[in-house]
Amino acid sequence: MKKGRLLTGDRPTGKLHLGHYVGTLANRVRLQDEYDCFFLLADYHILTTRLDHLEEIEENIREIVLDYLSVGIDPGRSTIVLQSAVPQIPELQLLFSMLVAVPRLQRVPTLKEQMRDLHITQPSAGLLGYPVLQAADILSVRGEIVPVGKDQSSHLELTREIARRFNEMFGTVFPEPETLIGEVGTLPGTDGKTKMSKSLGNVIYLSDDAEAVAQRVMRMYTDPKRIHPTDPGTIEGNPVFTYHEAFNADRAEVDELKERYRAGRVGDVEVKKRLARALNAFLDPIRERRARFAARPEVVEEIIVEGSRRARAEAQETLDSARDAMKMAYYRGVRDRA
Ligand code: ATP
Ligand code: MG
Repeated sequence: MKKGRLLTGDRPTGKLHLGHYVGTLANRVRLQDEYDCFFLLADYHILTTRLDHLEEIEENIREIVLDYLSVGIDPGRSTIVLQSAVPQIPELQLLFSMLVAVPRLQRVPTLKEQMRDLHITQPSAGLLGYPVLQAADILSVRGEIVPVGKDQSSHLELTREIARRFNEMFGTVFPEPETLIGEVGTLPGTDGKTKMSKSLGNVIYLSDDAEAVAQRVMRMYTDPKRIHPTDPGTIEGNPVFTYHEAFNADRAEVDELKERYRAGRVGDVEVKKRLARALNAFLDPIRERRARFAARPEVVEEIIVEGSRRARAEAQETLDSARDAMKMAYYRGVRDRA
């Protein structure tokens, strides 16, 4: 018996990388047994900021689903959903948008950040409403648990407010979802910047081949103060060692390298060569699963179809309950037959 229903997802803006693995994917794989998991490919959310990149979406969806399957998200246990294949979600968003004041949306911190980062002075109604769409994503399947990074807790606050307001005004239909803040760190970039992020170009993709990984690693940022292999090196804040910690299964090797690095008894090249080997050992089974699914695109498509169908049925039930509660059940005969 699973503990509840969980929803999380991704905007299909590109392939997933090791940062995503550390920050969310590993956690999702673990959560599959505990919760009834829905993983949403949030393609409508792309429209809020990237109207000039729409031709990439289909390819990105394909890649992300392969990323999911390759790391061990299991469609037998979890549901992979394409947001735009569930029209009940925007319908719910419409209902919810009546319950939220515009200044409340203007205060959402992540909206302000996005406007600043993307140099947007006047948000579109769509961008302003994206936290409401997110509430509809979650509540369409009556999600109870949302794993989030700390930066996203404000989104869930609004979802909780919407659920509460709806239930108070019309009667209880929605759960008030809870956040699940995982004990995950942020993976630094290969350039040593605090976050691996595709827009910073400092990433290793889950789909990179062994050669690409080795090249990336050999060019990685290390301890800038260290010039000779005999100089004592610093482990802290050195991404090469952060990656060793995160991905090298051979703990004894990691400990030995750290000791020798601190003492100035190992060169950067050796540390990096061993990191490339460890990363490739970590990625090999992921690559194998990816190749198996990539060879059968019709199977992958069927996984999305099945998942979206399940989400759609859940969302229709939710929408019917919401409309009943709002006294909008009138003329079902017309609505259902039209
Ligand atoms: P973009 O450059 O387009 O912002 P990105 O590579 O930074 O892309 P996001 O789409 O911002 O990726 O990340 C989505 C989620 O993935 C984040 O909320 C976070 O949970 C997780 N994530 C992304 N990068 C990292 C990272 N380097 N370390 C830990 N978690 C990460
Ligand atoms: Mg980002």
